[in-house]
Amino acid sequence: MYAVGIDIGGTKIAGAVVDEQGKILAARRVPTDASDVKSIEDAVVAMVEDLRTEFEVGAVGVAAAGFIDAAQSEIYYAPNLAWRNEPFRDKLQARINVPTIIENDANAAGWAEFVHGAGALTSDMVMLTIGTGVGGAVVLNDRLLRGGFGVGGELGHIRLIPDGIECGCGVKGCFEPYGSGRALQRYCEDIADTQAEGIGAELARVRAENGGLNGTLIAGLLEAKDAGALEALRILGTYIGTAAASLGAVLDPQLFVIGGGVAQAGEDLLGPIREAYRAHHPAHGYHPEATFVIAELVNDAGVVGAADIARRYAEGTPA
Ligand code: BGC
Ligand code: ZN
Repeated sequence: MYAVGIDIGGTKIAGAVVDEQGKILAARRVPTDASDVKSIEDAVVAMVEDLRTEFEVGAVGVAAAGFIDAAQSEIYYAPNLAWRNEPFRDKLQARINVPTIIENDANAAGWAEFVHGAGALTSDMVMLTIGTGVGGAVVLNDRLLRGGFGVGGELGHIRLIPDGIECGCGVKGCFEPYGSGRALQRYCEDIADTQAEGIGAELARVRAENGGLNGTLIAGLLEAKDAGALEALRILGTYIGTAAASLGAVLDPQLFVIGGGVAQAGEDLLGPIREAYRAHHPAHGYHPEATFVIAELVNDAGVVGAADIARRYAEGTPA
């Protein structure tokens, strides 16, 4: 069976027809207005209709960045988007005549990595997506963890810093405001402000030249191995590794897969993550240590995972 996977991100909506081997047969991409729930719905419907003209599609899976109920139907809440108790599946289903499910975006990406990517040889893995937010997916014993209400695996919202920075979920001190792409930008700003005469010189110069810093500029500085940007990445990686150590104590995965835009920094990010993980890993040296890798499917993980989960759901064997 072919399935359509849709991945709704903060800046774009990606969609694809995917076969049972995870191969993309046709793909589309449009910009999105993250603040307008109705325009997102319209764009998803248009994309599905467009993709269906070429292929016979048996299921549709839509990956969305939010807390989704156990029936994979309602988006309870989205920390970085406008959805609040949004009956998204029913709205889509009324307009698309194919079995449709909603899936958390990080769950979709993590499932794709587990089935077709970096996690294909493990039974227990954790995926962290480092982008605007921090997404989490947990595979335990070959199954995706969903929890009792459907919102398990929201790893960006474990508490990392008591009374720390306020998170988009309404709580202070979550992992997300310390471990996300936005956090990386904050660390870069701090270094540009406080170390403009030292390692922050290039950050300060690029910021002045462009009227501010953004993800693309920071990625460029990281690629050029700028000392200030690398120091910001080290701070970020330290928080991620610290959180991973606590997750390891609960979940005991063999593998952590790091995805999302910031993961393009590769080993420069994995190094500090591993170092912090080892420093906080309980009983370190006396039991096996998880492996940390960068996601393999990069930009396609969300659509491939959403399609696979939807297909399994339609076939009666849920992920
Ligand atoms: C949301 C998650 C989402 C993650 C990545 C977090 O803020 O709570 O549901 O997976 O961002 O998009
Ligand atoms: Zn939070």
